Amino acid sequence: MRPTTVPFFISHQGCPHQCVFCNQVRIAGTVGGIPDGEALRAKVGAYRETSGGNPVEVAFFGGSFTAIPSDDQERLLGPLQPLRERGEVSRIRISTRPDAIDSEHLAWLRGMGVATVEIGIQSMDDAVLDRSGRGHTAAQVVTACRLVKEAGMTLGAQLMPGLPGDTPALSMASLHEVLSLYPDFLRIYPTLVIAETRLAELYRTGEYVPLSLAGAVTLCKTLLRAALVAGVPVIRIGLQPTAELDCDGSVLAGPYHPAFRQLVEGELCLDLCRKLTTGLPRGTGVTIFCAPPRVSDVAGQRRHNLEALRRDGVHVTSIIADPECSHHELRVEAGSVSRRGNLFT
Ligand code: SF4
Repeated sequence: MRPTTVPFFISHQGCPHQCVFCNQVRIAGTVGGIPDGEALRAKVGAYRETSGGNPVEVAFFGGSFTAIPSDDQERLLGPLQPLRERGEVSRIRISTRPDAIDSEHLAWLRGMGVATVEIGIQSMDDAVLDRSGRGHTAAQVVTACRLVKEAGMTLGAQLMPGLPGDTPALSMASLHEVLSLYPDFLRIYPTLVIAETRLAELYRTGEYVPLSLAGAVTLCKTLLRAALVAGVPVIRIGLQPTAELDCDGSVLAGPYHPAFRQLVEGELCLDLCRKLTTGLPRGTGVTIFCAPPRVSDVAGQRRHNLEALRRDGVHVTSIIADPECSHHELRVEAGSVSRRGNLFT
């Protein structure tokens, strides 16, 4: 059963400095101080009322949890303990920096019900990390991930293609290095130029050029495919749209799109459709079968894929939602020809 997540944004709490690309206030739309026990209990209670009986997970995002002063960590986790004992909270998730993790601290967190640690890795290239003002090295990432796994906790890894000095090849190399650390899941956030950041200044002076939307979609498609081939789920691609992020002036440049993941999955579908229709006579009418939730990905946003296929000489007569298709499978039928393929092979 999928848990209901109760998110608490503790923007920049514990961060030793502001990384060049980061402005959590603009991203999450909250200054995110340390909520007190009453606020924690009230929000958990409100989410439980609409959780439909699903387990409830509390998640602390947007800061460096393990670098927050110990008293404040206790203040955040302490009030959740009675809720855990009564089964009202099933697990707790935190996100943090790789250089703020040690085994003793992880053992304490585990005892307090923290089951998942998400590490902001961003890149495994030391030059990219340095230019991004991260203040840690790739070697520290390796150690941190190992410690989380040794502690028996779920490891989440966040990557940011398109940071200063990054290239698609470096992003792919970072992904492969991260996959070798056995993360349980990934989040991929293509770098955006957010207002009131150092990156915004570098962008204005021309010292930083962000990925284009099309470039980021293609890059994230290859990253997603590689992660899924390795069996690691990617639970998010692209920043979650918020009212604050959608405000004029929050995203100054970069590959922001409110349905970024759909663009990525749409391009994966287009690639597979092209493969499956290769060699068919121009103008042949084809029917595409896919899992019901995939229909819009196959069509592409604003029917982009159907138009692209038409330009290739492939006339898609219909897309059929076929419950017999797995989520990653497409089947193409054209006359007596029937071909099927998998998005991730
Ligand atoms: S990227 Fe993480 S460590 Fe850096 S400022 Fe943002 S929240 Fe803090």
